[in-house]
Amino acid sequence: MLEKNAALVLFSGGQDSTTCLFWALKQFDSVRALCFTYGQRHSQEVEVARAIAEKNDVPFQVLDASIISHLAENSLTNPDIVMDEEKPAGSFPNTFVPGRNLLFLTFAAVVARSHGFKNLVTGVSEADYSGYPDCRDTFIRSANTTLNLAMDEEFIIHTPLMWRDKTKVWALADELGVFDIVKNETLTCYNGVIAGGCGRCPACKLRNEGLKRYEETK
Ligand code: ZN
Repeated sequence: MLEKNAALVLFSGGQDSTTCLFWALKQFDSVRALCFTYGQRHSQEVEVARAIAEKNDVPFQVLDASIISHLAENSLTNPDIVMDEEKPAGSFPNTFVPGRNLLFLTFAAVVARSHGFKNLVTGVSEADYSGYPDCRDTFIRSANTTLNLAMDEEFIIHTPLMWRDKTKVWALADELGVFDIVKNETLTCYNGVIAGGCGRCPACKLRNEGLKRYEETK
């Protein structure tokens, strides 16, 4: 039997997964963080994630998932490809890494099971999504069923941000009492600039517009 009060958080050190980490710390007695490396442009991301986990006494594990960057080209893992600034009509931006979330959830479920943990927490969101199919609720529910069937377990995948746009993610961080930590210590920027970021990349634009809206309504 997997431990009901234990959760593994898929954790990258960005705004979303950091908010999820603190959400999980409120919900569960035992929390671990799992961070994937996959040849993303800035491996500094891992050190940011490690620092947040250590500061909050959360056991932190890094898993090499670089196989996914060898399978197909995308602008997150290949610096020779210019990153799409906007979502092309009828498609996803070339920052899409095909299969990423399915592979991440599979790896995470195996790791969770090895610790006897029942819960998985991931920061995917359908509200602000760039059109990535593997951020949709229907995909997560399907993956949850598949993982349970694959391992004959009763995992629960939690997606606390699924229906929150970036403004509401900032609001959640504030509710959890970690607004300043998320604002100052996380790394969301595709160009590897911590906190407010470069301000130009799509990740920064989304994060900073959400922050501006939240601070205006506060
Ligand atoms: Zn940026």
